[in-house]
Amino acid sequence: MRVVDFPLEVPSEDGPRQLRATYFGVPGARPKVYIQAGLHADEIPGMLVAHYLRELLTDLESKGLLTGEIVLVPVANPIGLEQTLHHQLLGRYDLRSGENFNRYYPDFLDAVWQRVSESLGKDVTENVLKIRGALNDAIDQWTPGSEVQSLRKTLMRLAADADLVLDLHCDAESVMHFYTESPCWPQLKSLADYLRCRVVLLSRQAPGQSFDESLSGVWWRLADRLGTSQSSEAIAQACLSATIELRGQADVSDQQASQDALQILQFLMRFGAVQGIPEDVPEALCQATPLAGSHTLVAPSAGVVVFRADLGADVGKGQTVVRLVDPKDGVVTPVCSEVSGLFYARTRERYVQAGAELAKVAGRVAFRTGELLGA
Ligand SMILES: [Zn+2]
Repeated sequence: MRVVDFPLEVPSEDGPRQLRATYFGVPGARPKVYIQAGLHADEIPGMLVAHYLRELLTDLESKGLLTGEIVLVPVANPIGLEQTLHHQLLGRYDLRSGENFNRYYPDFLDAVWQRVSESLGKDVTENVLKIRGALNDAIDQWTPGSEVQSLRKTLMRLAADADLVLDLHCDAESVMHFYTESPCWPQLKSLADYLRCRVVLLSRQAPGQSFDESLSGVWWRLADRLGTSQSSEAIAQACLSATIELRGQADVSDQQASQDALQILQFLMRFGAVQGIPEDVPEALCQATPLAGSHTLVAPSAGVVVFRADLGADVGKGQTVVRLVDPKDGVVTPVCSEVSGLFYARTRERYVQAGAELAKVAGRVAFRTGELLGA
């Protein structure tokens, strides 16, 4: 295990913060796997999974069983982890800029295109090397203007040339679920099955510029831009990425985290980063559904939140999922699902103002456009 602390390029007024990356396996070996936790710094389950992964990987490395290189960043957001107010960790938004820590990752497609469009040929392996080199170069050339941009740059630079990028998150209260871009899905399906995901949400370049999509998106969009040329056929999806939602914020336990780490390890064996024979992939608990088919129920008025369906239940179109009770005048407002699907995530709040997000239901049919990810 090799530990490297990267100082963030633009320091805060409190002085420079550092991002710690932990490396396992042979430097430069393939496949390269990048795993981070806590980009939303108040989402703790992934940090504990990273803790167990570090133990497992340290042991495997000592036995010479790592075939690839694995980069583990257990605390991906040292800025957010220091943001507390009234004893509460506020790790989703940067308090200085108001920006969501998992949005606004720069789109380097044009920069990569300018560097490689003339030189791509029919050789898949050569193209992968060229594109990775161009992407790393473009990131290096980017001058961040703030500490949070420095964090984005550092994370992207660590992950940009990885074959596999796993970003460990969680929802407020939720079942295990998983976001990925459609072009990555065929190769990541077994990871979702190992993790016993109840919902998989697929998109193609959802607006918001999240970390995972900023990396995997370069590849399939480059192939798209090349159109029907022979070169487009020679562009592999050489970076697979996923955002894994490890249930809810309070779902932090040794039992679940150690099990999740072991399941990720099964996938790393299948992926060729770890030696060993993986267990058979368990039967899928769900079919993938479009992110644009996920319905977010929003409070039409303020009130006490009373859930009328269990998390993880199938709900029908028109079914009441939440009742909002106005304790002052006794008015009760039902909030219904507009789609049939799995009730997979809900707020932790039990009193909300009008406009608050209450619950999410994964429907099978895409119906939304525009901003697909939550705030
Ligand atoms: Zn998150």
